[in-house]
Amino acid sequence: VKIDLGLSFDNSYAKKLEGFYADCQGAKAPQPELVKLNTSLAHSIGLSNTNPGQLAEVLSGSQSPIGASPLAQVYAGHQFGGFSPQLGDGRALLLGEVLDKDGNRVDVQLKGSGRTPFSRGGDGKAALGAVLREYVVSEAMFALKIPTTRALAVVTTGEQIMRTQELPGAVLTRVAASHIRVGTFQYFSSRGEQDKVKQLADYAIERHYPQLKISQQPYLDFLCAVCDKQAELVARWLLVGFVHGVMNTDNMTICGETIDYGPCAFMDDYDPQAVFSSIDRDGRYAYNNQPVLAQWNLARLAETLLPLISDDEAVAVAKATQAVTEFMDVYQGYWLTGMRAKLGISNEEEGDLALCEQLLESMVGQEVDFTQMFRQLARDLEGQSHGSDQLFNDADRFIQWRESWMARLSRASLPMSECVAMMDGVNPMYIPRNHQLEYAIEAAEQRADYQPFEQLIGILANPYTPQDGAEEYAKPAPASFGRFTSYCGT
Ligand code: AMP
Ligand code: MG
Ligand code: MG
Repeated sequence: VKIDLGLSFDNSYAKKLEGFYADCQGAKAPQPELVKLNTSLAHSIGLSNTNPGQLAEVLSGSQSPIGASPLAQVYAGHQFGGFSPQLGDGRALLLGEVLDKDGNRVDVQLKGSGRTPFSRGGDGKAALGAVLREYVVSEAMFALKIPTTRALAVVTTGEQIMRTQELPGAVLTRVAASHIRVGTFQYFSSRGEQDKVKQLADYAIERHYPQLKISQQPYLDFLCAVCDKQAELVARWLLVGFVHGVMNTDNMTICGETIDYGPCAFMDDYDPQAVFSSIDRDGRYAYNNQPVLAQWNLARLAETLLPLISDDEAVAVAKATQAVTEFMDVYQGYWLTGMRAKLGISNEEEGDLALCEQLLESMVGQEVDFTQMFRQLARDLEGQSHGSDQLFNDADRFIQWRESWMARLSRASLPMSECVAMMDGVNPMYIPRNHQLEYAIEAAEQRADYQPFEQLIGILANPYTPQDGAEEYAKPAPASFGRFTSYCGT
């Protein structure tokens, strides 16, 4: 008998998009064990089965639950600038879709559940460390109110998988608004299957941008809507010091959620050139390059939509180019709005962009912790201390900046306590620090000790509120931790 998770599946991708996926089953895990369930997320999507053995069976991919129609999606993608005409879910399995408590349709997908027709040379598996990393970082992003896929569960498979060394295998269950990517459009476009591009665009509009159905120019508006969502997303990444690390077009969603937490990391010290991924040797996806690379990816999406935008190619190109060009202004608007809040600025003035940029310029090369810095500025404002200049090696330039900031705040004339509340409401105290993550992963991998992982999740769930006994979590890595490098492909 099939296991019932209590989820009411309604699998529109399977039903409406035949030819966009391969039906598929997960591999049997030798000894599946549920090591983490996100109970609040489980509740919000109606997952009512609480039997750990049954959850482990289903969420390892060993058995398909009632109502699922498991499939692997096909897509293409530009990876570090080079086009791969066929990628697809090589180690992911979409169980299906459910409506969450708010009536939103969400994908429930397993990652690491074994080979699919799109695995190419890969084993279709995932290492426990990488799964825990995605769990912690995606849930931290959610708590930071940044659009993201979410983590529902972690199941260890009882199998050792081969990477540069043997590692324990695991499966992550993730929940996403959808997994439609820029690369999904590219797959069909590059094969000349324009009818399929249209079918996909119509599906994406219906699912994510239904207000555009009545538009006179739905496909151009769709492109603009995706540009807008990505502009906001990338702005919010930069505002918290996040480096995605692998912004290939197959890792950029149409719905605007952060997806595929591989070699991503938050920076400690502010460094516009920060890169953490071992494979990003040229710094293509460095912190400050992210807006430009998002725009580059959106240009690839635009190319696939040209025939839908107008029958006249020159017209289509002109309109699409304008949409993609405007991305940078839209991005900057979101970024500036976010920076104003980070700095407690409650109104708009001409010189605000320059003021924000001058702060960042004063931080370059100063080994100043990005997260602590903004949190400390609010303390300075309260007059408790002038602690923020102590974060700098040489604070001269910053101290000058701080005076212009204070003068700027007095012109806005919002009561100081309200500036502080505004700042502390958007500047996190706790982010997923690389050294804390590594420590939690090591304890789980080497000793099956999940206590550090659980503690990290607990603290990161409330990133803006000081928590007792969590002082260490608000600090950057000790010098002994060294430069952090993330190895993906695990
Ligand atoms: P990523 O860099 O994780 O976004 O993955 C890029 C592509 O490689 C995607 O199509 C993945 O499905 C595929 N892939 C990554 N790891 C594996 C693996 N272990 N087995 C099979 N396919 C994989
Ligand atoms: Mg990917
Ligand atoms: Mg320092």
